[in-house]
Amino acid sequence: DTSLAERVGRIKPSPTLAITAKAAELRAAGQDVLSLSAGEPDFDTPEHIKQAAIKAIRDGFTKYTAVGGTPSLKKAIIAKHERDNGLKYEPAQVVASVGGKQACYNLCQALLNDGDEVIIPAPYWVSYPDMALLAGGVPMVVETAAETRLKMTPAQLEAAITPRTRLLFLNSPSNPSGMAYTKAELAALGEVLLKHPRIVIASDDMYEKILWAPEPFANIVNACPELYERTVVIHAVSKTYSMTGWRLGWACGPKWIISAMSKIQSQSTSNPTSIAQVAAETALNGDQACVAEMTAAFKARHDRLVADLNAIDGIECAPGDGTFYAFPDFAGAIRRLGLENDLALGDLLLQKALVALVPGSAFGSEGFARLSFATSETVLEQSVHRIREALA
Ligand code: PLP
Repeated sequence: DTSLAERVGRIKPSPTLAITAKAAELRAAGQDVLSLSAGEPDFDTPEHIKQAAIKAIRDGFTKYTAVGGTPSLKKAIIAKHERDNGLKYEPAQVVASVGGKQACYNLCQALLNDGDEVIIPAPYWVSYPDMALLAGGVPMVVETAAETRLKMTPAQLEAAITPRTRLLFLNSPSNPSGMAYTKAELAALGEVLLKHPRIVIASDDMYEKILWAPEPFANIVNACPELYERTVVIHAVSKTYSMTGWRLGWACGPKWIISAMSKIQSQSTSNPTSIAQVAAETALNGDQACVAEMTAAFKARHDRLVADLNAIDGIECAPGDGTFYAFPDFAGAIRRLGLENDLALGDLLLQKALVALVPGSAFGSEGFARLSFATSETVLEQSVHRIREALA
């Protein structure tokens, strides 16, 4: 009997990782593929962080730690949130995990019962719906409009809420759109949430530092402090410090949720890797100049790429507030070329232009595509040139 658990059939493999694999395959076959599909910074992990991890190995810090992270890592996480976000947490309100991804996953596992609804504004990070499904939840996708810069309005949120709503995912700045909610926009969403006390909010702040919006970063708790009691802030060193491979993220929130997440983690992975914890602690406590440098580079590439894309007939690209993604609307090009949808466009660009990008459908937004500018200016320039030719 080779039948698998029914839950396997509920989900699909991560589409972004699938595209990256497809591009790698073409490249291995000798094709000159330009990849704009990366979900990680192209910079090396800063040297002082690497050195701290090397020292940890030499010092023999290579054994199990407390499930939710060492006391000193938790201290660094708590200090970060107090310093940067004005949010206070105790160690029992923090759990360090294997990336922000495990934090999101454990939250779904800890909170959702069969049939519980999870509100996910589109475009969304690809994993939210599948994580909700794996936990027995029902993803309730809210489509957003270009007029609101692909952000959910309070009216849309209100309309999506039912007596079964249990969780809301917010991700600002957003992967894939690059858009960030203003504090006022978050306060307006908060007004709606205050009327529905059963809803827990997951604030995925992964891209907090890669931001060039006119106003400083704020999450929903900053905008609506009453929601502190039921908001889980999810974060990681992955994007901020170019540490995706180290697999170190965390969640901060109410004790009743965090202890449940830790309990689940204690029976699955246990602690995140000991040496990655030391590296993360060093990243958080150390010099932050590396973060500003990387963000400045992303901003320069963003400005250039958005301008170049907008110069192509059939592409409309609204400037983003942060991250390292552009999320243009290709609807004009798709129509003009008589293509079926953004998936056909993605295929065409991969086969004809040898440019790999991720179709918007993967993020719940048809007609769009995500281009990662976590790559060199040369690759970006060549990619734009090839896209222009392919769509001509
Ligand atoms: N949340 C968002 C919005 C992301 O884009 C990602 C990574 O792509 C994650 C969470 C997961 O990050 P990590 O690599 O720390 O697991």
